[in-house]
Amino acid sequence: MELYYTIVFALIGLVCGSFFNVVGMRWPKGESIVRPGSHCESCQTPLTARDLVPVFSYLFLRGKCRTCGATYGPFHVIIEALTGILFAYAYAQLGFSKELVVALLLISLLAIITVSDLLYTIIQDRVLLIFGTLIAIMRIISPLQPWWDAILGAVFGFSLLLLLSILSKGGMGGGDIKLYFVLGLVLGLKLTFLSLFFAALIGLIVSIILRRGFGKTIPFGPSIAVATLIVYFHGEAIFNWYLHLFT
Ligand SMILES: [Zn+2]
Repeated sequence: MELYYTIVFALIGLVCGSFFNVVGMRWPKGESIVRPGSHCESCQTPLTARDLVPVFSYLFLRGKCRTCGATYGPFHVIIEALTGILFAYAYAQLGFSKELVVALLLISLLAIITVSDLLYTIIQDRVLLIFGTLIAIMRIISPLQPWWDAILGAVFGFSLLLLLSILSKGGMGGGDIKLYFVLGLVLGLKLTFLSLFFAALIGLIVSIILRRGFGKTIPFGPSIAVATLIVYFHGEAIFNWYLHLFT
């Protein structure tokens, strides 16, 4: 039964991931997320149901449009696949619980902002407002211990990023600052701090690999997303492991 539900959550994640791609791609451009329906960007041919099966259609058609043969990179498929894997992972870690809802909201938020930040360097207020509200409600239903740790995390995350943004003279985007308010609600104080530390580390490594100035051309959102997911699921274990190095 465990395996059955894990697969169900993976499939739900694939479908949601497909939708998050559309939201992250269209909303920043001011387009509707329902109209027009999905179509080939090259020949404008509307895609039918068999072209829209998450991941599988892409693999089956080898990334090509059935009509005009235009090829598409794997970016959106990777987002779909990761959302599927993470939904399944969240269920495997948390089971049917109130906290599972928080985890799925967090994964959804991070998937959308990763798409919009990578494509347009934008983390939209609208997305933050929707998920921030839902997550705040869930933090009342599924509180941290103690409950006010969520508020501490939010205020700390927001303030520290605001400070860093002022010190780096705009190296940090406004979207990143507001994002950390929402992430703070999810993580609480200690894990928010750990997430910021990892995000900076990942951002630094990425900027070295890409050999570009830190925070200038490389969107920070994806680094924040990776760091936050690691910390959300395993932050306590990492913290304990770190403390044991010194005892
Ligand atoms: Zn086409």
